[in-house]
Amino acid sequence: MIKILANDGISQAGIDALTEKGFDVVTEKVNQEDLITTINSEKYEVLLVRSATTVRKDMIDACPNLRVIGRGGVGMDNIDVEYAREKGLNVINTPAASSSSVAELVFAHLFSMVRFLFDSNRQMPLSGDSNFKELKKSYTGGKELTGKTLGIIGFGRIGQEVSKRAIGLGMNVMAHDKFVEEANITLEFFNGDKKSFTIETESMKEVLKNSDFITLHVPKIGDKSIIGAKEIGMMKTGAGIINTSRGGVVDETALMFALDKQKLAYAGLDVFDNEPNPSIHICMHNAISLTPHIAAATLEAQDRIGTELADQISTHFGK
Ligand code: NAD
Repeated sequence: MIKILANDGISQAGIDALTEKGFDVVTEKVNQEDLITTINSEKYEVLLVRSATTVRKDMIDACPNLRVIGRGGVGMDNIDVEYAREKGLNVINTPAASSSSVAELVFAHLFSMVRFLFDSNRQMPLSGDSNFKELKKSYTGGKELTGKTLGIIGFGRIGQEVSKRAIGLGMNVMAHDKFVEEANITLEFFNGDKKSFTIETESMKEVLKNSDFITLHVPKIGDKSIIGAKEIGMMKTGAGIINTSRGGVVDETALMFALDKQKLAYAGLDVFDNEPNPSIHICMHNAISLTPHIAAATLEAQDRIGTELADQISTHFGK
């Protein structure tokens, strides 16, 4: 029986799919320093990880039984992918499994921003019972998303999922991508109807200049931010920025400066510089809607990650 160690866990749906095909799945966490010994003594042929466990050259060299390394999720920075492939291992991941979940969190932040939910949820427990009228007054002046323009920077899997939801809400969509020139976006409705749109991408400048909200869906390459003071300067006064991609893609210092000067009205952040110890100034800022890197952390995405890994492992072993 082929043994699989899912060292950072795997959804029950994934365990069921693998067990049904005759694999032996173990989810008991092994410490990083004991991993090589355990993989060899227990004769694991498949190692599944999320972001916590790292798989470096030394482990690949020291575990000749390993045939597949699987990453539940997108980025594979914790695995020496090229080296593993050179050594004949199959390295798999699940790049599309969480796109819908991330896209929905973008809208959670957008709705939170335009109606000040992030702030009223902080203030109501403190003084909602005594200060109701003042709080009510301070949260007038909200906005609707319908009719506004959403600028999407990075028009890959997640960016395109975001565009579907924006179109559904009656927003205008503009997109910029370094490589994608146009994309066909198909919305599927509850009654089986479908409607397709072609979105042509535009220059970064056009998107920044004309959008009421900017949302980022690009990979992080090196230390350079994609949105800094210069780019914020091109945006509409009173616009908002959402970053669910990676910390550092938006320059946090420039962002806070723009919020303090009211160049930007609000921001929504799921990712931060220096995770897991983000800046306290960012965490306490009264114009930022905050989540602690949970964009992909839905039950549905975790289920899809598990079943997609199970499918790929079954195919690899011809089951
Ligand atoms: P993707 O590869 O499908 O799309 C990324 C797009 O960005 C590509 O179309 C690429 O051409 C474009 N791009 C690259 N560099 C660019 C640049 N400098 N300017 C403009 N466009 C550029 O990736 P995806 O699945 O859509 O993921 C997007 C991002 O979301 C990644 O950074 C990923 O790590 C992040 N992510 C975050 C979470 C979370 O929990 N917050 C979860 C999943 C993914």
